[in-house]
Amino acid sequence: MSQRTNVMKHCREKVSNWIEQHRQELIEQNKKLVGMPSMNRYADGDEWEVQTYVASRLQKLGMEVDQFEPTEVSGIMDHPSFLPGRNYRNRPNVAGIKRGSGSGRSIMFSGHMDTAPLGIGKWSADPFSGEVINGRQYGLGIFDMKAGMAAAMAALQALNDLNISLAGDVWIESVVDEEFGGANGTLASRLKGYEAELTIIPEPTNLAICPASQGGGMFRFTYEGTSGRGFSGEKMANPVFAAARFLDIFKRYQSYHAEKASLSKWYKAGDFPAYVQGMQAGSPAYPIYDRSPSSCSIDVWIQCSPGTTEDELMQDLIDFYKKHADEDEILSEWPVRCERLIRFLPGMEARRAEQIVPWLEQLSGEVFSQKLPVQGAPFACDAFMFDLHSNSSVIICGPKGGNAHSEDEYIELDSFYKLIAFYAQMMMDWCGLASDE
Ligand SMILES: [Zn+2]
Repeated sequence: MSQRTNVMKHCREKVSNWIEQHRQELIEQNKKLVGMPSMNRYADGDEWEVQTYVASRLQKLGMEVDQFEPTEVSGIMDHPSFLPGRNYRNRPNVAGIKRGSGSGRSIMFSGHMDTAPLGIGKWSADPFSGEVINGRQYGLGIFDMKAGMAAAMAALQALNDLNISLAGDVWIESVVDEEFGGANGTLASRLKGYEAELTIIPEPTNLAICPASQGGGMFRFTYEGTSGRGFSGEKMANPVFAAARFLDIFKRYQSYHAEKASLSKWYKAGDFPAYVQGMQAGSPAYPIYDRSPSSCSIDVWIQCSPGTTEDELMQDLIDFYKKHADEDEILSEWPVRCERLIRFLPGMEARRAEQIVPWLEQLSGEVFSQKLPVQGAPFACDAFMFDLHSNSSVIICGPKGGNAHSEDEYIELDSFYKLIAFYAQMMMDWCGLASDE
């Protein structure tokens, strides 16, 4: 065994012991993050408290920390990738850099601290308690993606505590406004020039190494009709019946969409889901609506292969709809309006994946008893911003858990500890040990 392999093995064992000894503290750290609600309430968000806390933690980790609101970055509001219509007051990004001793490669852990809003369904545990039940820790946003960010901070804390100094820089970046296709937080950091050669996004991948993310678009189809009651013989056209037909067509679209071949080697046909995520008729302003509704709308979210553009996705959906609507006695006569609801999220494929992926796979085999799986991430996220506005290679890799954007969101603690070990190993192996120099 070479000298370096020996040293690395020794460091790995020390990190693993450190994690073992700090389990309770790590759980408490997650509780702290989950206990600071940071819901994205499009177009606002509550990230202030948690971001301030993250900034202080990064400082304690020996990082130089920058805290800034996305709209403070000069030129961002005129940038083609900037999505207008969001408010950023008291919603700061936080970026920390721990400088290495010099010649090593740099790595960044980048994630978002906003969570999906609390739904109206019932939780079995308080969504802000971070309660642990049978090896699972629960909390709104813990899986997507506070625990992933906590793991990055913990990995650096372990190296600090163990006096393991790195040759390259480590960045930890916590952005605001990722949910609802925000991504302006991630854009803001890119425009500031914060960049490492390798970026790890700790979005929840169930411990898979993901060199790609899917694209996604959210669209609304609206039918107009006649509102009221036909007391004087008015001819009523209730748009919910048109919407009902739409749902039939959309079911067929789901199968058709699922059968499409993937444009990316990281995915296969069947990997791209399409969801109906909301339907509205009548007015939400009234508790009871005493007339037939004047309009009915259906919101859909469709994921697609990296390489698919928004125009292609939308046009294909509209063409499919038209073809089937033309054969329908109701819909052929009923106009529909289709509009996009949020920013289209393009898919992402990692740069230099042919070098990065085998290295990470190999590394995972050294840290765990077996190599972690490699696959495209089953979701869309803001990884595309790195693709568009940096030269970094981006890998998505986060904990195991479930119920993202839903009740009883959780992580599996075992995977969380593993992730910390993996991140620490990435830092050591990628950046190099200062003692190697
Ligand atoms: Zn996320």
